[in-house]
Amino acid sequence: MTRTDAIAHVREQFRSGDFLRELDRRVAYPTESQNAGRGDVLRAYLEKELMPALAELDFESRVVESPSGKSPFLVAQHIESADAPTVLTYGHGDVVDGMVGEWRNGLNPFQTTPVGNRVYGRGTADNKGQHSINLAALRAVRAARGGKLGFNAKFIIEMGEEIASPDLNTVCASLKDELKADLLIASDGPRLSADRPTLFLGCRGGYRIHLDVNLREGGHHSGNWGGVLANPATILANAIATLIDGRGRLLMEQLKPPRLSNQIRSWLADVKVEPTADEPALSENWGEDGLSPAERLYAWNTMEVLAISSGNVDNPANAIPGRARAVLQLRFVVGTKVDNMIEAIRDHLHAKGFPMIEVTGAQRFAASRTDFDSPWIKWAAESLQKTTGKPPAVLPNFGGSLPNDVFSDTLGLPTIWVPHSYPGCSQHAPDEHILLSVTEEALGIMAGLFWDLGELPRPLSKVA
Ligand SMILES: [Zn+2]
Repeated sequence: MTRTDAIAHVREQFRSGDFLRELDRRVAYPTESQNAGRGDVLRAYLEKELMPALAELDFESRVVESPSGKSPFLVAQHIESADAPTVLTYGHGDVVDGMVGEWRNGLNPFQTTPVGNRVYGRGTADNKGQHSINLAALRAVRAARGGKLGFNAKFIIEMGEEIASPDLNTVCASLKDELKADLLIASDGPRLSADRPTLFLGCRGGYRIHLDVNLREGGHHSGNWGGVLANPATILANAIATLIDGRGRLLMEQLKPPRLSNQIRSWLADVKVEPTADEPALSENWGEDGLSPAERLYAWNTMEVLAISSGNVDNPANAIPGRARAVLQLRFVVGTKVDNMIEAIRDHLHAKGFPMIEVTGAQRFAASRTDFDSPWIKWAAESLQKTTGKPPAVLPNFGGSLPNDVFSDTLGLPTIWVPHSYPGCSQHAPDEHILLSVTEEALGIMAGLFWDLGELPRPLSKVA
């Protein structure tokens, strides 16, 4: 049997309707992790739905309780040979609120409804459809290899991703040996666009920075005091202007990432950022000079003013306000020195003449990604190209947040994400859906990728 047979087998699961029936059964579990009282459903999804599916593929699996008691995990493995590569796969079975009653034509979020090229249902895109595609592809490869995968495979499925994965890092750290692998291949999030197969290697981090200028209690009449009392709003605006200029360019060195490598530039050379009709057009003259939109979005840092306030903007008084506040956010790529960022911003503002500004850090998440010299990137990109005939977009980072650092840092794995959804999928909103065309292509992509993994006599290593 061949690669072509594996792909034909998975396409047959799609064309016969078996794949969509299986997905419909999974969508029917209202696994809303943000809603209290779903504990039994979260567990049932693992025990009644995924464990039997994995047992059919000769995986041993067990439920691992979460330390916080919020949502359980499924850990599974199938070992064939000590020499063969071992892949770890991740997915999440929980979904956001179903938003019953808000869907088009009164659709029930907890059943799948095909309409044209779309299949609606909560979790179809995020993430039940995506991990179901990967499971179906494993099934197809196993059938084509006569009951063997050709590699070792491990799974971790969590039921708390939509509540920010409270226990994923703790559980992975405690199971570090059991989850040992050569790489992570997982699927979540959207492709660059519906017709462009995509790989991304990690995610940008985020860091909220609060700036407070608190000069005195209450406001003071601007006629009586203007010119002799410092204005906190003026100070704050000027302080921000020393961090970012009026075109969104970073002015403070430490806010910037290390110089873009030629490798990153070459991966991003053919990546176009093209908003769809219902998305805003890209701003002219905004952002770092000399970078393409893709480089600015996927390989550079940005600092955004999320919120700013002083006085009462809806009903202003003729007074000098006593206080001004702003919340900024730095989105940053791997390699940015964020550990002492707050002190660095404080020192910078001090040196620029703003010692009265209080600088504090809040909500922070890590940036992480696979090293660009990992041989798995090229290997995966070639596999996708072989299956689809199209060169995939290879993005250093996913736009949103993802618990990638658990896999790249805690478990130390190269991380290859192969997303099966697309930007217009309405995840986290009413009318979440997948596209049939993308789903069929994605099934083939994953069967090809898993087939190719089984063709490797041993894991790829950096020194070839
Ligand atoms: Zn989500």
